[in-house]
Amino acid sequence: MEIFSKKNIDAAKADIDAAQKVVITAHLNPDGDALGSALALYNYLKDKKDCKIILPNNIPDTFKWMPGCSEIIIWDNETSPKAISEADMLFLLDFNNAARVDKMQAHVEESKAVKIMIDHHPNPQEGLCKHVFSDPEAAAACELVYLFCKECGYQLGIDSARCLYTGLVTDTGCFQFNCTTQRTFQVAGQLAAFGFDRSEIIHHIYDSYSEGRMRLMGYVLSNKMVVYPEYHAAYISLTKAEADKFGYQVGDTEGFVNLPLCIENVKFTAFFMERDGLIRCSFRSKGDFKVNTIAERYFNGGGHDNAAGGKSYKPLEEIVNRFVSLLPKISRPLVNKGNNRNKNSKK
Ligand code: 5GP
Ligand code: MN
Repeated sequence: MEIFSKKNIDAAKADIDAAQKVVITAHLNPDGDALGSALALYNYLKDKKDCKIILPNNIPDTFKWMPGCSEIIIWDNETSPKAISEADMLFLLDFNNAARVDKMQAHVEESKAVKIMIDHHPNPQEGLCKHVFSDPEAAAACELVYLFCKECGYQLGIDSARCLYTGLVTDTGCFQFNCTTQRTFQVAGQLAAFGFDRSEIIHHIYDSYSEGRMRLMGYVLSNKMVVYPEYHAAYISLTKAEADKFGYQVGDTEGFVNLPLCIENVKFTAFFMERDGLIRCSFRSKGDFKVNTIAERYFNGGGHDNAAGGKSYKPLEEIVNRFVSLLPKISRPLVNKGNNRNKNSKK
């Protein structure tokens, strides 16, 4: 592959060899892929370098079992700026723009360290990193971290393999989303060869809900999901007070945005939630309907074709009203496609 050309790999590898103090970071609200790529690299490097993972905010409980997770440093205004400014190498994993590390942004941008980005979001920020291994065709950053390590000749251990497999599983929805390619399965197969318990990983991620999370899911499905069959769309909104009633913990609403996609003919979903003093917006779609452009244009965000997010500082009700008023316009490609399909099927 072009991004992993010998020239690119040799250049990055020489810089890694020369580095003493390495800081690995990944995006705000880390998911399985952000944590999997960071921890896989950390578990490989930690005996070889002074290596730290610093993340902008908390880790969902679902992922706390991951090897090395307890050693992750959550950004601290007192100590973390020093760690970043002293680092001679920074790894930026599973994000394409420094804004995605939130309060760490300026520190990362201003750091003199050699920066390496390994990521699968479109349009990596220009001028941010010396080495950029970016491929939007990859299902997960973990897929690329695996290939990067392989090309570098790094012998990963079983802990790194478990972490990488976790990222593949979460970003592909257990290998079900369109982003899953032949190469994703090849990487998964090579990771499986390490011989770890794959069903245990699935169990950690999907069968370890708290009672509160399960009940919150029931509540949003029966009371908060609004479906617009005519637009092939649905949304769920959630206030902080509602979430708190169910003892909300970080990660408890993970995947809620996907739920309405289980309804036949719903191709586009949104989830809006009051959180951390702002409204977090998530979007998902099936097929070739792109949600990253919607997130970018109307909700101050971005992401992948079928999974994107954004944020707003306006009241929840206002965001929801705006979304609903935009629906006829933004879902037009889905409505037109539906009509075409009906016409064709009558042939
Ligand atoms: P989620 O809905 O799980 O929070 O995010 C889905 C995807 O959307 C993430 O993997 C990330 O690529 C992207 N994303 C989420 N929030 C933002 C945001 O605020 N800005 C940008 N640029 N991308 C986001
Ligand atoms: Mn990812």
